[in-house]
Amino acid sequence: MSYDNNNIFAKILRGEIPCIKLYEDTHTLAFMDIMPQTDGHALVIPKEAAETLFDLSDAAAQACMATVRKIGEAQKKGLGADGVVLMQLNGPGAGQTVPHFHIHVIPGSIGDLRRPHATVMADQNHLKALAAKIVAAL
Ligand code: 5GP
Repeated sequence: MSYDNNNIFAKILRGEIPCIKLYEDTHTLAFMDIMPQTDGHALVIPKEAAETLFDLSDAAAQACMATVRKIGEAQKKGLGADGVVLMQLNGPGAGQTVPHFHIHVIPGSIGDLRRPHATVMADQNHLKALAAKIVAAL
């Protein structure tokens, strides 16, 4: 496994660049996606250094799924989302753009994913307002 310690999520984990945080525990961090595909699009990452699912320990995978559940429930409650889509890309061949394992937790339906992947930056205040609703529902 060749993990790049300077990838953007490693920098977020080290506190070197900011994120709009939703939730954190010993093994995971959840924050808003800066280029969301629907309103409320969040990311859950392990603190463990792993590029893809195939590099991730079972314990970290389990911790990520527990956090995904928390965030998804809060999106349903806080944003009134009818459904929650999970997306998880492994390797550049799948279109993964950040080489640190992450699960996209996307409120809405698969048909709502009209915005292109990792392309359009959202307004920070809009993201913060959505984040506040999710956090309040945690
Ligand atoms: P991937 O293509 O690797 O599955 O997804 C990477 C995700 O990270 C994309 O949805 C993209 O919008 C998001 N992203 C990229 N850079 C940043 C950043 O600096 N901060 C945050 N919060 N999200 C980012």
